[in-house]
Amino acid sequence: MKQSANLVCINPKCGKQFPIKSFQLRCDKCDFLLDVDYKDAPSSKLKDVFDERRNPQGSIYNESGVWRFRELLNFCEIDTENLEECSKFLVSLDGAEGRQSKPYHMSKVSSFINIDNNNLMLQPEGYNPSGSFKDNGMSTAVTHAKLMNAKKIICASTGNTSASAGMFAANENMECDVYIPDGQIAPGKLSQAYQFGTQMIKVNGNFDDAFTKSLDAAKQLGSYTVNSVNPFRIEGQKTIPLRALEFLNWEVPDWIVYPGGALGNISSCGKCFIELHKWGWIKKIPRIAAINAEGANTLYQLYNGKFENEELRWNDGIPNLELIEKYYQAMSQDEKLKPKTKATAIQIGKPANITKGLRALEFTNGVVIQVSDKEMLDGMSAVGLNGFDCEMASGATVAGIKKLLDNEIMKKDDKIIGILTGRQKEPMLPIEYHNDPNNMFAVPPKS
Ligand SMILES: *Cc1c(COP(=O)(O)O)cnc(C)c1O
Ligand SMILES: [Zn+2]
Repeated sequence: MKQSANLVCINPKCGKQFPIKSFQLRCDKCDFLLDVDYKDAPSSKLKDVFDERRNPQGSIYNESGVWRFRELLNFCEIDTENLEECSKFLVSLDGAEGRQSKPYHMSKVSSFINIDNNNLMLQPEGYNPSGSFKDNGMSTAVTHAKLMNAKKIICASTGNTSASAGMFAANENMECDVYIPDGQIAPGKLSQAYQFGTQMIKVNGNFDDAFTKSLDAAKQLGSYTVNSVNPFRIEGQKTIPLRALEFLNWEVPDWIVYPGGALGNISSCGKCFIELHKWGWIKKIPRIAAINAEGANTLYQLYNGKFENEELRWNDGIPNLELIEKYYQAMSQDEKLKPKTKATAIQIGKPANITKGLRALEFTNGVVIQVSDKEMLDGMSAVGLNGFDCEMASGATVAGIKKLLDNEIMKKDDKIIGILTGRQKEPMLPIEYHNDPNNMFAVPPKS
C-alpha cells in the first residue's frame, strides 16, 4: 500500500503544511510543533496483515516490532509490500527494534499494587536492542535522516537516547554527536554510546541546556536532530501502544501509563489513538496517565494548577504558552524548582513535547501525578521479583498505578497497561536497594 504524507503544524488555527523531505521541527509561521500527517485512512483489514507478519517469513521488516506496522508510519511513501523498496528506505537493526516487546502479567507487581492480576499488564520496552523504548522511535527518525541525506545525527541525552542514536548511527555508518550535561548521566548508558563510537560533547549545565546547544548544532548542513521534538521519532513510538493493542486483540484498555520526561512517549501514544479513532479502527479511547518524578514535575505542576492556580490545558490548540514560559522563568531563578531525581531518564525540567503531551492528555482525558524516588525504587524492585528488569524511571509506572488505585482515580476492575521504558543500566541501584533491609522488597545478602 502506498501512502501520501505531509508534515503539518499542530496548531489548529494554523495548520501550515510542509513537505516530508524537510528539516523543519517547528512551524515557521507560529512556532508550534509538527505532526506527520497521512492523507488516506488505512483499512482496518491491515490488522490481519500485521498479525500474519508475526510469522516473519524471512523478512526483517516483518520481524521488526516497528516496521511490522509500516502502513501506519509510511512517511517514506513507499510500496510497503515491496521488500526491496523497504530495504532501500527503512532503517532497522536486523528487525530487532520492538521485536521482543509485548505486555505481560506480573503477579508480584499486581499484589504490590493490590489489583487482580488479570487487570494489569506491563510492557517491558527495555528488551529493545539498546535497552530502552528509544529504539522504536530512533529507527524511524534515522530512516528520515537518511531520506534527507543527512551524514550526522545529533542529540542531547539523559542517556538512553544517546545509546540508541549511537547504535543506529554505527549500524548505518553515520556520524553521531551527543550533547551531555557534564557529570549528570548514568555511566551505564554513557558507556554504551562511547562503545558505539559517538562523539561526546560535554555541556556545562543540565539536560535542558545541553538540548538547546544540540539544536543549534543541528542547524549545520548535513546534520539532523534525533531528539523527540523530531516528529518522526513520534511515529516509531506509536508502535508501543500498537503492539499492546494487537496483543489485546484490539480491545482498548482503560488506561495506558508512562513515566513523563520530555513527553515524547505520551505524545506518540496520544497521536496513535487520535489516528486510530479518526480512521474508525477503535471507538473507545483509553486514558493516559503520565507519571512525573517529584523532583522533576513541570507537567504535574502546570497540569494540576499548582502554579499560578491555572490548570494548563491543550485547550483545543490554544494552550497558555505564557504560563509555561513563566514557569521556566521561575525555574531558572529558584534552585528548588530545578530538576532533581535519581531517575535521570526523567530528570527533565522543560519537556520539549509539552504541547503535544497536552494534546494527548486532552484527547484521552488523561491525568498527571507525581511519585517520589523511593516509590520509584520500590516499583522497579517489584518488577525485578517477576524476573524482568527495568530501570528506576520505569518504576514510576508501577508506583504511579499504585497511587492512582489508592486514590481511586483508577478502579479495581479497570484494565491497565503500564509501559516499562528501559532496562536496568545502573548496577549500583539494585545493590544499594537490596543491601538496605528497610526497603520493602530488599533481599539483603547473608554471610
Ligand atoms: C527517555 C526515557 C523516559 C522519558 O520518556 P519521554 O518520552 O521523554 O517522556 C523514560 N524512561 C526511560 C527509561 C527513558 O529512556
Ligand atoms: Zn503553524
